[in-house]
Amino acid sequence: MAQYSLRHYGVSSWQLSPSMIVLHFTESDTASSARNTFANDSPNLGELPGTCAHYIVAQNGDVWQIVPTNIRCRHVIGLNDRAIGIEMVQRTYGHSSTWADQQILGRPAQIGAVLALIRSLQRRYGISSGNVIGHAMANQAPQFRDLEGWRNDHTDWQTQDALEVRRRLAAIR
Ligand SMILES: [Zn+2]
Repeated sequence: MAQYSLRHYGVSSWQLSPSMIVLHFTESDTASSARNTFANDSPNLGELPGTCAHYIVAQNGDVWQIVPTNIRCRHVIGLNDRAIGIEMVQRTYGHSSTWADQQILGRPAQIGAVLALIRSLQRRYGISSGNVIGHAMANQAPQFRDLEGWRNDHTDWQTQDALEVRRRLAAIR
């Protein structure tokens, strides 16, 4: 991860001081299949380490921490040096990403666990809700930066759906 960080961000470090949270969905049916994908550590876009995320939240609300939040992992191009990644178990089944986001928003056990997790991370690291973004928003984030010119091509968590997450965060305090 330090070598990846040197190539993409210009500084050799695997350590994370999180200042953002990026929302994802897994495009898998279960938390364990998502975890296994990360555990394979196979090259992504020709580079190692493989993709991963800090947390996976199952549809029943179980929260699995995969990577400590002081270690970087590859879940979002351009922001891996500053962002915690939260994966929510959901597939699109041929529908749009917004449809998939809405399935999660409509599942109280899962989205409730996600909101509680985000709130606790916000308190711990002083992360504002404006820095809780969807993966689909990453290329437009002011903090986005990749020295190899990589861009995200993922559409999980569209802007309007991430804004709904922010609204719900504001409501729970
Ligand atoms: Zn994603």
